[in-house]
Amino acid sequence: MATRYRSSVKRVLIRSTESPGESEKVNYAPITLFPSSVPRNSLEQLTSLQLHFNKMMHMVSQDLEFLQTCLRNLNKVDNFNKRLWDIAQLVTKEGITQPVSLGMFRNDYMMDMKHVTPDDPDVDPKKSTSAPECVQMKQVEFNTIATGSAGLISNVDKVHRYSLTMAGKQFTDSQIPVNKPAYGMAMGLVEAWKVYGNKSACVLFVVMEPELNTLDQRRLDLEIFQCDKSVPLKYVTFKRITESGNLRAGDQALLIDGCEVAVVYYRTGYSPKHYCSEKYWDTRLMMERSKAIKCPSVQCQLAGTKKVQQELCRPGAVERFIDDPEVAHQIRETFVNQFSLDLDEEGDEAVNAVFTNPQNYVLKSSREGGGNNKYGADIKSLLSGIKDSEERAKYILMERITPWPQSTYLVKSGHEVSLKHVVTEIGIFGVYLGTKDMELYNSVPGHVLRTKTADSDEGGLMVGQSYLDSPFHID
Ligand code: ADP
Ligand code: MG
Repeated sequence: MATRYRSSVKRVLIRSTESPGESEKVNYAPITLFPSSVPRNSLEQLTSLQLHFNKMMHMVSQDLEFLQTCLRNLNKVDNFNKRLWDIAQLVTKEGITQPVSLGMFRNDYMMDMKHVTPDDPDVDPKKSTSAPECVQMKQVEFNTIATGSAGLISNVDKVHRYSLTMAGKQFTDSQIPVNKPAYGMAMGLVEAWKVYGNKSACVLFVVMEPELNTLDQRRLDLEIFQCDKSVPLKYVTFKRITESGNLRAGDQALLIDGCEVAVVYYRTGYSPKHYCSEKYWDTRLMMERSKAIKCPSVQCQLAGTKKVQQELCRPGAVERFIDDPEVAHQIRETFVNQFSLDLDEEGDEAVNAVFTNPQNYVLKSSREGGGNNKYGADIKSLLSGIKDSEERAKYILMERITPWPQSTYLVKSGHEVSLKHVVTEIGIFGVYLGTKDMELYNSVPGHVLRTKTADSDEGGLMVGQSYLDSPFHID
């Protein structure tokens, strides 16, 4: 059985961190032995709501006035965001060369227990591991750039069906929904490539150096091939584009080694360390100026910042983009409270609240990629040094979600299989292609579950803190 299980998890490999430069070194991705319970209704509701989220975030990215209002104070103290903003402003002023933009999103949630009132007063819902009748799906963050795991997760449902069967558990097919988000995400790239309208132009994967997430990306690349065998692909780093990229005079086509680029797909570019050479900022500007379709455009990257998400929690902000009051209400229902820390009265109130009850909050900086949040006492020590300065506008405060704890076996290469209390984060993938006024493509390719031990604050897959997982529906 162990051997058969190993061949089953061979479908879920990642590049080994010990030797990132050596492409042949791969390892099993961390994975839960069994799937985790997720109420069917909740997952289905999030899936249908995602079409509206896709559209809303696209519209946010098209509304520079809204973005400016959101980011004004952050840009004064955060040079990285300011530089992205400057590019957004400059390309808008010069005149947008490519009105179509592509979003490949992941909307992350946790199953919150905070608002649950159990029928039985002796049951503490926070310790319950039985079916949660009334967990509420609460948004953790909306990712607009380099959203990962669609490739890695695309075989995990099969592994879980296998391990449950081997353990002698009865289940129906629909209890572990089929999940192939890589195909749907790849479709987004193919649709954008078609809209660009030049069959010899390529889809450009802009990746890191070294790139640990290669196998996640390769799966997308394979699925592009399944969708349309004729799409040319290139993998490049910022360094390579800087050396061999240029804009064609006249029509602003992006050329890499002379090959025209239809779609720029960023799997990097969201952290200051990705711009380790000053020249890479010029390279980013060149790509944003080009007539290639960007995934995401710099505006869409900015729409995904934590500051914008905090501003979307304000009354009327969702309604600015969503006409249907029922849909706006459903979107709002997924939000927990978020607070600005700008240097004003509202920010003062938030600082006071977090100093009184730090355990109720998460402090977030406008950075992506994990490891940037502060919790509990660390919030107080960080804020005490800057609480009277504009510096505090670098951060936002978010109400802490109380995720439903379950128990599961965690499987990681080189570690004993162990039974742990865990919490699960559910990501819903979304693809949106459109202009300011026209929707060309809107889809929800699937989901990803990432599970971490209940006592760990952060949950990055690539940093080894979370485990790939699948939803198991209890009917
Ligand atoms: P990023 O992934 O860009 O670093 P996130 O907002 O996703 O930032 O936060 C990282 C992790 O911190 C999440 O995956 C989640 O485990 C945890 N987290 C974030 N926000 C909350 C929250 N409001 N309540 C509880 N945990 C949170
Ligand atoms: Mg995250």
